[in-house]
Formats: sequence, C-alpha cells, structure tokens
Amino acid sequence: MPYYQTPVAEVAAALATSPAGLSAVVAGQRLAEHGPNELSGSRQKSVWQLLLHQLADVMILVLLAAAGVSVLIGEAKSAYVILAIVGLNAVIGFVQEYRADKALEALQQLAASHALVLRDGLPQQVLTAALVPGDVVLLEAGNVLPADVRFLETHALKVDESSLTGESRNVEKTVEALPPGDYALGDRLNLGYKGTSVTNGRATAYVVATGMATELGKIATLIQTKEVVTPLQKRLGTLGKRLSGAVLVVAALFFAVGWLRGEPWQDLLLVAISLAIAALPEALPALVTVSLALGAGRLMQSHALIRKLPAVETLGSVTYICTDKTGTLTLNQMTVEDLYEAPAETLPGLGGHNPLLAALALNTDATCGPDKQWLGDSTEVALARYAAGHDYARPALEAQFPRLAELPFDSERKCMSTLHQTPQGVLVLTKGAAGSLYQQLAASQQASLPELKRRVDAQAAQGYRVLAYGARLLPELPADLSPATIETDLTFLGFASLIDPPREEARQAVAECKTAGIIPVMITGDHKLTAQAIAEKLGIISSEQELVLTGPELTALDEPGFAAVVERVRVYARVDPAQKLRIIRALQARHQFVAMTGDGVNDAPALKNADIGIAMGINGTEVAKEAAALILLDDNFATIVEAVRHGRRIYDNILKFIRYLLAGSVGEITALFCAPFFGLPVPLLAIHILWINLITDGLPGLALAYEPAEKSTMQRPPIAPRQTIFAAGLGWFILGIGLLIGGLTIGMQAWAIARGLPHWQTMAFTVLCFSQLGLALAIRSGRESIFSIGLLSNKAMLGAVVLTVGLHLAIIYVPFCNELFSTQPLTVAELAIAAAVASVVFGVVEVQKLIIRRRP
Ligand code: ADP
Ligand code: MG
Repeated sequence: MPYYQTPVAEVAAALATSPAGLSAVVAGQRLAEHGPNELSGSRQKSVWQLLLHQLADVMILVLLAAAGVSVLIGEAKSAYVILAIVGLNAVIGFVQEYRADKALEALQQLAASHALVLRDGLPQQVLTAALVPGDVVLLEAGNVLPADVRFLETHALKVDESSLTGESRNVEKTVEALPPGDYALGDRLNLGYKGTSVTNGRATAYVVATGMATELGKIATLIQTKEVVTPLQKRLGTLGKRLSGAVLVVAALFFAVGWLRGEPWQDLLLVAISLAIAALPEALPALVTVSLALGAGRLMQSHALIRKLPAVETLGSVTYICTDKTGTLTLNQMTVEDLYEAPAETLPGLGGHNPLLAALALNTDATCGPDKQWLGDSTEVALARYAAGHDYARPALEAQFPRLAELPFDSERKCMSTLHQTPQGVLVLTKGAAGSLYQQLAASQQASLPELKRRVDAQAAQGYRVLAYGARLLPELPADLSPATIETDLTFLGFASLIDPPREEARQAVAECKTAGIIPVMITGDHKLTAQAIAEKLGIISSEQELVLTGPELTALDEPGFAAVVERVRVYARVDPAQKLRIIRALQARHQFVAMTGDGVNDAPALKNADIGIAMGINGTEVAKEAAALILLDDNFATIVEAVRHGRRIYDNILKFIRYLLAGSVGEITALFCAPFFGLPVPLLAIHILWINLITDGLPGLALAYEPAEKSTMQRPPIAPRQTIFAAGLGWFILGIGLLIGGLTIGMQAWAIARGLPHWQTMAFTVLCFSQLGLALAIRSGRESIFSIGLLSNKAMLGAVVLTVGLHLAIIYVPFCNELFSTQPLTVAELAIAAAVASVVFGVVEVQKLIIRRRP
C-alpha cells in the first residue's frame, strides 16, 4: 500500500521510526545504505574528467593532426615538440580549471541547504544531503522540502507544488490516510515532495524517499542537467564559429599561393595548420569560465555568495539596485524611543494594568533567554524589551492572560494579533502599521482619527517606525480565526515610535552608486514619511525630481502612467512583495538592468525575474535563497555595491584578455600571410607559432584575470548588457595593434635578410614574442599608464612576463632547444635590436592611453 493510503502509525512502523525520530547511529547506517540525499548529475567532475576535458578540445585535435603530418613528412622531431607543447598547455589549463572547480565547489558547499530534523530526540540542523528515510523533519513557512515526506502533524500548512505539478494554487496539506483510489501526484494531500516549498504554517513529517528515489529525482533522470553558458560565452562561441570559417579560407588561400610559388607542400601544410591555430580563439570560452569562477571566489571574500555563475559577468551591467530597507540600509537595531498612550479608554479584562504596556508585552513573539539574550524579529524584540524594562515582562503577563491563538504577522496585512484568556472574556490584541490599523478601528473611534493621524505622521516624518496597538473583547474564542473577522472593531490603545539607525557604510555605498551611474531604490513596507526620512538621510533622495510612491498609489497607476515615472521613483513605501514584480517589469521595459533584494517566500517571483536576484543570507528564507543569483552573507547594502564593483572588474579583465589574445592572433596571421606578398620567405615555423600561441600568449593572458580594479571602475556608466566584444573601438584596437605586431615582425625579417644576417628567423620570432609581452603590460589598464599603476600591482603578470622571457631566452640559447625549435643564438646586438623593435607596441599603446587621458 502506498504511503498516502496508510495511517501515520503504520507509515512509522514501515519506516522503522517514531515521532521522536531516528538515532544518529541508525541515521548513519541508513545513509550508507541509501546514499546521500542528492540528485546525481550535480556531482563534481573528477580529476581525470578534467584532464580529458583539456585534451578533447578541438584545437588540441588540430594540433595532434599537425603532429601527425610532421611524422608523415619525416619531421619526427617537430612532432615531439608539438606533443610536448600540447602537454604543457594541457597542464596549465588543467591547473587553472582545477582551481576554478575547487572555488566553485567551496561556494556550493557554503550554499548547501540544511534541514531541521529530530535526531536522538532533539531538533538539530543537518545537511540536506544527510537526510535518510525515517528521519523526522520539522518544516515551517519559507522552507524548501528537503526530501519526499509523509506529514504526521500540520498547522495551517500550505505548500507551493508548482515546481513539480505546474499547479500554481497552494495546496493545503493533511495528515489522514486517503481512501482507496487512484491519486495523481498533486492529490496525495498527506505527502510533500522534495523541491516544493512551504508558503504557510508549519509541519512535522517523516522522510519517505531521498535523492534519486524522490519524485524530483525521477524527473531529474529525464532532464540532463546542462552546464550553464553565460551571455559572454555565447557571444564568444558565435565569434569562434565565424572566425573558423574565415580562417579556413585564409589558410586555403595561403596554401594555394605558396603552392603556386613552388614551395614544398609539406611545409605549407604545417604552416597552414599553425595559421588556423593562431587564429582560433578556442581556449577563450574555457578561460572565461575560469575567470568567472575565480571571480566568484573573490566575491565570496566580500560576503557575496554567487549561486549562478553568469551573475558574476552581468553584475557590472546593473543600472538599478532595488533594495529592502530594514536590515539592509539600516542596522536592524530597533529601539523604542517613545510611547504615545491613547487618552484613557476603559478596556475591561486587563485589571489594573496599563493597557498599552500590557499589549507590548503580550502581543509579541520575542523571548528572553535565561542568559538575558533576546530572540526574535528585531521589531518584536524592541517592543518586548521596552515593556520588560517597565516591569511588564512577557512570562508573568502570559501566566495571567494565557495566549489562546494568534494571527501571525505577514507583510501584506502589515499587522499581527494575539488572543488571550481574561476573566471577562477573550481579549484580542492587534499591533501593526498605523495606516493598516486606521480602517480596523471601531466606529466610536473615528472622531479621534484626524488627531491620531497627525501624531503618527509627525513621528514618521522624523524617520520613526510607528507601530499602533488596538484591542477588543470577545465573549469567547471564535471558530473563524481569519483576519477579516478578528482584526476589526478595535479600540485604539496607543502607539510606539521605534528608531532603526541607517548604516553608515550604506550612505557611502549610495554615494558610490551615484557616481557609478547606478540608481539605488528603496522598497519598504514602512510608512511613506518614515521611508522618505531615511532615504533622505542616506542620500537616496536628493532632489525634488525624485519621487516617493506608496503601494496604493502604485496600484492606482495604469501601465503607461507608471512607465512614465518609474525611472524617477527612488522610494516605494507601503508596498507588498507582489508589487516588486511590477516594479521590475516596468524598469526592464525601459531597458534598465535591475538588481532586486528579497528575503521572504513571496519575494521569490521577483528574485527570479530580476536581472540579478539577491537574497538575504541572515534573514532570508530558503525559498528566497534558491530563487536568487546572489546571496548577501551580511545582509548589507554596501556588499551589493562591492559586488557590482567586482563584477565590473572581472568583466573588464575578461575583455582585456580577449583583446590581448585576438590582437596577438591578428599579428601572427598578418606576419604569416603577408610575408610572401613582399617576396619574403615564411617568417616563422609552425613550432614557433604554436609556442607563442599556447605558452607566451597564454601565461600573461591568464595573469590579466588577476588585474586589480581600475581607479575609474566605479566612476563610469554601467556596461551595456548586450554590448559586443568589439564595441567602443575595441575592434579597431585589435585590428590596429595586430597589424602593427605583424608589420614589425615582417619588418624585422626584411631588414635582417637585407643586412644578410643569418639569424633573421629567430629575430622575427623574438620580435613577435616580445611585442606581445609589451602589449600584455600596456593593456593592463585601459586608461592609466603602467608607470602610474605600478609594475607590482599585478604580481601574477610580472611573474608571467619574467617567466615567459626566461623561457624564450632558453629556447634561443640552450643548444638542445636550438635543435628542437630550429632557433639560433642571437648576438647581444641582435637581441637588443629585436627587443627595441618589439617595444614599439608597448610605446604605441601607452601613447594611445595618454591621448585617452588627455581627452576631456
Ligand atoms: P520592511 O520593508 O521595512 O522590512 P516590513 O514588511 O517588515 O517592512 O513591515 C512592514 C510594516 O509592517 C512595518 O512598517 C510595520 O508597521 C509593520 N510591522 C513590521 N513588523 C511587525 C510586527 N512584528 N508586528 C506587527 N507589525 C509589524
Ligand atoms: Mg521586513
């Protein structure tokens, strides 16, 4: 019999468990038996797979073909060298990818979810992966179900199963066994499925299936998890395809021209192949992944945890940051500054107690531990602590007026109620946003309303969060405990003014946003005036042009009306989470690139739809975290801005090495292809091209990923999201510098031949190599001179350049290498001349930057 048709007690027997849960020992045995509660496919690549991956590259295959050709034409020596270079290149690639993989793995472990289970009879947090059948899990709103479960106890439990069934209505769950019959997944009301989320209430449940045995696991076997490709990688992919086509044509042409000139076809074939290698940016997509992964590791140190890798790349494009107020822009250290007591109302039930202070102490979920540590939401704690300080401690009052029921706080109603037993009947205490409470007051209270509103507004305008209290007495506990029937006909008790100081670093971060062309927007459930006062303190609002909009005002606006103002709104007050989605859509329709923060279950749609969804690490629910691309480990606004800065830096650096590698390729093609047209022999051998492309290009190229942020990173507008690699003159830069490198190489060759120097080929080889090293140094900044940023500010680059020069000298001067690479030792004068010619590239790029700096 399936679990949903079996009574709970029998389910427990079948699973050999009990409501007290498993012991740690049994859980350990079952874990060994059933395996971890994970969907396979999310497994890490093994070392061997990584190594194989290096060799499976198309470029490597072309190279191996080149080695084959070498052997065929009796050049076994070249074949060995090619193989050695391929090996060296694979090792470099492997080390990089391995490090990147490790970084990602560390991130995944940090992002790994936990579940609350009973083990040895005590609740404890364990890794979701460690759950086993028979475990008892405790679930509450905001949790993602960690496994397939059978409920044994539920309280107002509602589950969103849309991820599994596509049904968008929330399902209310039960405990009873279902009568015989056929049930679709969505109708098995006493079962819960891995990956679905609790939207309301809480529950206790037995785990019945884990890992691939879950319903989600069954689907996961059908859908192969694909590796994510970032927008930039996609564009690089297309670029690669186009280039391949072009290169084939060029290589064929080269071969044909050489043939006609009567050169030996074997040599031509080798050079044609190396021409193809020179031009193909095969390694680029992998390099992009490596720098994104390393960047994600770096972001981690700044308290921003990346969940979706492409976010690293797109962070730099953010134009609007829509952020929560409480805790993100403010410290979330609420303190009650003042109480306002309504003119004495006689409220029966509370005996001689002060009604407002009693309400503060009774209508709260905050608790004070034995060690005087307060636990709970910061607003709750502030109010309860204030009451306790005035001799109204919660435990004492609750003993006198026991809590019968409660209507928990939710950010749509913006209030909460508790119901208490008193000698005179059942006392309802409601607290919430003053604005929400106005409508709930009894008719007899309406006369004092204008005066009340005036007082509340005066407090709110000073930046206070105002919480109003109301009460009513019922003869008995009603059967219907819905907000509509309970939270009405209230007598006003008074209000409390709380202050939550803005974060100092948030003010600086807001200023930084503004110079960086990013617009910070505050979204809060708070009163309009409170929100506005804080926004002004933080600098989010600084002129009359910038608007404050409330949720009700937003509802009243139609789409065109909203579209007309959306870019000018800086504060949204009194909004509920559902409206966040509308704000995102409106901004995106105006081609803005939106980052949005969220913490609750109902923030998930907004987080998914934002260009960058950001979840709170401390106060966020699991549902929000799973929907987000980025998790803020410290819930701090300044961290978002820091993440954007890193995003811009990483993107910049990726563009730099794309430019660097492509300019080098253009240089090599120019040299190889054009020499014959000037009546010169082919300047370089296939081995030379290979060496330069894979080693002397690769090392400094990687070092560019470690380049620190430029001074101007946050002083220029955001990167346009779909900007091509060749935008902003980059295409011309690549072409111009490439032609220069190629020209210098051929020039060196021509001059040396004219002077009758026997070492002309090695000289051309040296020029090609050194000019690219000069380019690597000069390209480090797009603006600043290398002398002002300093050689030491990127030690990886300095190391790469020194190493590459060393290797190059070894190839020229070690006799054994001379043999292998067909090089000759240069005289000191020849080496100096080649180095001088090569330094022209460095000089030209530095002058180009000087011109950029001089431009107003
Ligand atoms: P924010 O966007 O600043 O986090 P919330 O959505 O948490 O705001 O709260 C919205 C409003 O609900 C607050 O301005 C406050 O008036 C009211 N409120 C907040 N917390 C509670 C609570 N625990 N009980 C009752 N009302 C609350
Ligand atoms: Mg809040």
